[in-house]
Amino acid sequence: MDYDDYGSNAVELAVDLANADRADPGWASAFCAEHHEWFTDGTALELSGKQARAAGATADLVRAVAVADSQAQVMERLNALLALATPRPYATDHDGELHLHYAAPEAGALEQLTTTVAMGLSQVVVQHGWQRVGVCAAEGCGNVYLDTSRNASRRYCSNTCSSRSTVAAYRARQKS
Ligand SMILES: [Zn+2]
Ligand SMILES: [Zn+2]
Repeated sequence: MDYDDYGSNAVELAVDLANADRADPGWASAFCAEHHEWFTDGTALELSGKQARAAGATADLVRAVAVADSQAQVMERLNALLALATPRPYATDHDGELHLHYAAPEAGALEQLTTTVAMGLSQVVVQHGWQRVGVCAAEGCGNVYLDTSRNASRRYCSNTCSSRSTVAAYRARQKS
């Protein structure tokens, strides 16, 4: 997926968090480790059980924004998410590209995660519209996705789900 048009690619972290498998009790620490590039070097990425529940609540709010069906609903849920954030932006080129980080560099992993997710998602919604974040329409998927298509016409999280649904619809038509 190409996030280049989106001012911030921090929204990618929000989408990944909403789609994270939370079955394992250590899921939140594993998620932070997998996404370590979003955290200041040296941040301890292990989250306690309580912090993992907070990360889960953040994930639920991202999903709530994605399933919302009006701008008013999106604003309400986005503002609930932003209320959990502690923004203190700064410019960095730690990976060679000049970009913004949203949380204080010395903040703990949970604060960096929550703040980056809230700010990344908010930027996309206010700059590109509330319909840009959705939930995959493929049966049994439910992944949150970011719609980067020109006319905001996307309905599936991936090409796999799109072609799977096209085939299913074709078969259903053949049957009837
Ligand atoms: Zn960075
Ligand atoms: Zn899907």
